[in-house]
Amino acid sequence: MNNGAWEPVIGLEMHVELDTQTKMFCGCAVTKGDAPNVHTCPVCLAHPGALPVVNRRAVEYAARIALALDCTVQARNIFHRKNYFYPDLPKAYQISQYDEPLATDGSFEYWVDGELLRCRINRVHMEEDAAKLIHAGGDAGRIAGSDSSMVDFNRGGTPLIEIVTEPDIPSPEAAREFLQQLRNLVVELGVSECNMEEGQIRWDANISVRPQGSEELGTRTELKNMNSFRYLQQALDAEIPRQIGVLEAGGTIDLETLHFDPDTGTTTPLRSKEEAHDYRYFPEPDLVPLEIDPVWVEGLRATQPELPAARVERFIADYGLSRADAGVLGSSGALAGFYEEVVAAGAGAKPAANWTMGEYLAHLNAAGLEAGHGHVTAERLARLVKLVEDGTVSTSAAKEVFARMIEDRAEPEATIEKHGLGQISDTAELEAIVAEVVAANPAQVEQYRGGKQQVIGFFVGQVMKASGGRANPQVVNDLLRRALDA
Ligand code: ADP
Ligand code: MG
Ligand code: ZN
Repeated sequence: MNNGAWEPVIGLEMHVELDTQTKMFCGCAVTKGDAPNVHTCPVCLAHPGALPVVNRRAVEYAARIALALDCTVQARNIFHRKNYFYPDLPKAYQISQYDEPLATDGSFEYWVDGELLRCRINRVHMEEDAAKLIHAGGDAGRIAGSDSSMVDFNRGGTPLIEIVTEPDIPSPEAAREFLQQLRNLVVELGVSECNMEEGQIRWDANISVRPQGSEELGTRTELKNMNSFRYLQQALDAEIPRQIGVLEAGGTIDLETLHFDPDTGTTTPLRSKEEAHDYRYFPEPDLVPLEIDPVWVEGLRATQPELPAARVERFIADYGLSRADAGVLGSSGALAGFYEEVVAAGAGAKPAANWTMGEYLAHLNAAGLEAGHGHVTAERLARLVKLVEDGTVSTSAAKEVFARMIEDRAEPEATIEKHGLGQISDTAELEAIVAEVVAANPAQVEQYRGGKQQVIGFFVGQVMKASGGRANPQVVNDLLRRALDA
């Protein structure tokens, strides 16, 4: 199989539950963790005669997302009924949007491996979430295998938006980056915490392959309702060679919804994909068209928080960072906030960037923590950076200090003291090491004295090694010259 002759094409649909106080079409509270079925009313339980009313804050939050994605917010919005039966959907239809959605024609820029990619956004539309099914007893992980299923209507009717991309995403890795950075954006807008465990965001991935350089799209398959970034990438990584294999054997791809099994790492067909007409979309008769005042939209635009793209530019301008570094530090609000705290606490912008992107980020990844929740505070990291700058600790020893600060949850000064990691600038102590090194290497001493000045580097290295990386290189240099020139 020749992967190089084919290119994958990926399009994503992301669902986000909005953190409004009340539901999309009724006044029931949107909460988490309460007893089941306490936040219900005739509207969200679909009793006859109950009428929906659009939640203004949900429209605002959805519009904020749309604006952040550079979409055009449409003045006229129509809600549609999307009909299907499911036990967690008492109306047997979902109120959603169809051909006149909230917003269209946007774009989102995201970083993949230091490169900025752009993905067109097809639309952002509003809808309501279904209730939550809980499968219990037996093989509770599967509907078919569990003894019983229970339904909690608290979630039913939670405001939900769907963001649909154009098929612009070139790889599984890019798909993961796209979703992670889009999630960061939504979190920063303050419209959803995007809590993954609670299923506040989930996505469908559509993927096809085509001959390298071809303009035409191949037939796609769809992976539905994923909520793990890692599984998404794995599933796409598995689906690409499967499709290529089918096509190279002369077969065709069926438009299907697939299931990814993380245990076997394979994708298998779940069902043939539904089409729009299967849902019998029709305009929701209980809601008038929603007219959105452009002045109101401009008011939202004027009060948007600073978004990652703008922040990246500011980091370049204010801190003198490279575009790639600013991209890493600026595209997540939490990491950007941490970095700015380190700088505000007195560390230089450049070393603060290196430490934040290097040791600190590695620590977060290893411990599975979010920026700002690591075991080193910004203030302590700033102090460590300053201790390197003033020569109290060498750069190499500082990495060990950082690791021990995490282990001990301790201050940098105390850590240096406790583990004896301070830079040795004490002349008497270093003179002894210098004397030993000089005595042990007569051949190199000969070379130096014969005019080969660069041998000094060898001696500095030996002294550094003997001191466990803690010797002050400047002092060592001076002492060596004095000893060798004598
Ligand atoms: P549906 O309504 O059936 O979900 P859409 O036309 O709205 O279908 O497309 C859904 C998603 O699939 C979009 O993100 C789109 O970019 C993506 N998509 C459409 N065609 C392809 C294709 N050939 N390859 C990859 N992705 C595709
Ligand atoms: Mg779809
Ligand atoms: Zn209700």
